[in-house]
Amino acid sequence: MIIFGTRAKTQVLDEGEFTCPQCRMRRRYQRKQARPYFALYFIPIFPVGKGLEYIECQTCGRAFEPGVLNLKLPEPKPDLAFVLNTIGERLADGAPIEFVIRDLTAAGLDFDVARSIVEAQAGAGRQHCPACGLTFTAAPRACTSCGGTLQDGAARS
Ligand SMILES: [Zn+2]
Ligand SMILES: [Zn+2]
Repeated sequence: MIIFGTRAKTQVLDEGEFTCPQCRMRRRYQRKQARPYFALYFIPIFPVGKGLEYIECQTCGRAFEPGVLNLKLPEPKPDLAFVLNTIGERLADGAPIEFVIRDLTAAGLDFDVARSIVEAQAGAGRQHCPACGLTFTAAPRACTSCGGTLQDGAARS
């Protein structure tokens, strides 16, 4: 008796990184093609029919349509508590005051509220970068954005 039928043969076409809708984060993927083969005694002999392409997440193992590679998750809103708790640390590291305020407003705070909170934590003394127009506390020795020399006083906005 001759046993014949079809078996699927899977081949990896390429791989890379994508945003997995299941893991909801960046993961490795393999783009695979499953193709039915005419098989004799369970040994694939020649391909029959069209191949099916899919994207397989290397972490959760789920398979997705190839279009999933164009999918982007919305940027997560910054966590307000985290941003608030790291203001002092970031200013001491040389983060421009404007950037810290921007992160607070992005996390949902009103601009004036954000500014007064940051000003209160920034202490006395301001420096600014004439090239970038950014304001710093007295801590950094140089502009952390362009490396330029800082001058006394706040930037004029
Ligand atoms: Zn996944
Ligand atoms: Zn600069």
